[in-house]
Amino acid sequence: MTAMTEAGSEGKPVLEVTGVSKAFGALKAVDDVSLSVNRGGLHALIGPNGAGKSTLIDLMTGWQRPDAGTVTFNGQDVTDASVAKRAAMGLGRSFQVSSLAPELSILDNVLLAAQGRQTSSFRFWTSVHDDEPLMASAMEALCAVGWTKPHTTPVSQLSHGDRRQIEVACAMALKPTVLLLDEPAAGLDAEGSRELTEFLATLKGKIPMLLVEHDMYAVFTLADRISVLVNGAIIASGSLEDIQQNEEVRRAYLGDSVPASRSTC
Ligand code: ADP
Ligand code: MG
Repeated sequence: MTAMTEAGSEGKPVLEVTGVSKAFGALKAVDDVSLSVNRGGLHALIGPNGAGKSTLIDLMTGWQRPDAGTVTFNGQDVTDASVAKRAAMGLGRSFQVSSLAPELSILDNVLLAAQGRQTSSFRFWTSVHDDEPLMASAMEALCAVGWTKPHTTPVSQLSHGDRRQIEVACAMALKPTVLLLDEPAAGLDAEGSRELTEFLATLKGKIPMLLVEHDMYAVFTLADRISVLVNGAIIASGSLEDIQQNEEVRRAYLGDSVPASRSTC
C-alpha cells in the first residue's frame, strides 16, 4: 500500500474501520481493511465490481458483522452495534440497489427513513403524517436534495434518476452526521451525474462522506482522499494526484482511460 498523504482540509476521523475482514465461505470479500471518514472530508472509495466496496459499507453500518477488526463511530466502538443503533447515532447510508418501497409515495418513503432516527418505535395511536417533527425532517430532506416535484407520486412512477435522488433524500432524512453513499450515480446519464455531483458538493464540508462511485467525474470533482479497493484490499490511498499517478492503480483499475493529472501536451 502506498503511503497515506494527509489531505489538508480533513479533520479527525468520525468513522473508522481498523483491520476489518469479512469472508463469504472461501471468498475474502474484505481483507484487513483500515480506512477512515474524517470530519469535513469526502473520502471516495473506488475499485472494480466485486472488489468488496458494498461489503465494506455493510460492515461500517452493521448490515454485516466483520470476522475481525473494529468499527468506531464518534469515538465509540460500534463493531457489534445494530443497524438501528448506528442509524440512531447518525450513520446514514444509501444503497447500491434501490431500497425504496415502489408502491409507497415519495413522501412516505422519506418518512419511513426519517423514523430510523427515532429511538422509540411505538406508534400505535398516530399516523406518521400527523407527526410534525417527523414530517419536518422528511420535507427538509426532500428540500436538501432539491426535490421540487410533487411528493405524493408513487415511487414506481419515477424515472431512474429521480429514484436515485429520493434515495439520497432517505439517507438525509436521518439527519446523518456521516453519510455513506453506495454508487449514487449508478445508471444516471451525464447530466444526472453532473447534477448529483453539484448537489453533493453543497453537502461537502457539512457532512463527512464516504462515496463509492464508478463515475470518475463525481470522484475527481469531489474527493479529498481516494482509496482504491481491489480483491478486498486497499492497494492505494491518498490525494487525487497520488491515485492518478499510482502505477498499480492505473494497471488494476483506471487503465489508460484516465490521463495522469497535469500531463504534458
Ligand atoms: P463491490 O461492491 O465492490 O462490487 P461487493 O462487496 O458487493 O463488491 O462483493 C464483494 C464480493 O463478495 C463479490 O465477489 C460478491 O459476489 C461477494 N459477496 C457479497 N455479498 C455476499 C453475500 N452476502 N454472500 C456471498 N458472497 C457475497
Ligand atoms: Mg457494490
